[in-house]
Amino acid sequence: MKVRVDQSICTGCELCAAISPDLFEMNGEGLSQVKSEAVPEDRTEECRDTADTCPVEAIRVEEQDEG
Ligand code: SF4
Repeated sequence: MKVRVDQSICTGCELCAAISPDLFEMNGEGLSQVKSEAVPEDRTEECRDTADTCPVEAIRVEEQDEG
């Protein structure tokens, strides 16, 4: 599973970084960014839940790995 943040939509509310600090962090512009695009197997459910929590749906999850 892969995850990314659409920073053109992110409002910088810091919710995702607060809920999942291992997956998301705030960058120097006050917007969220992923720590790693590839989500570890044991974090996929958490990642989906956090993506659902984003108030503006800026967190995009890709279920399938590229290939
Ligand atoms: S929860 Fe959504 S809007 Fe808030 S910082 Fe994270 S990506 Fe941005």
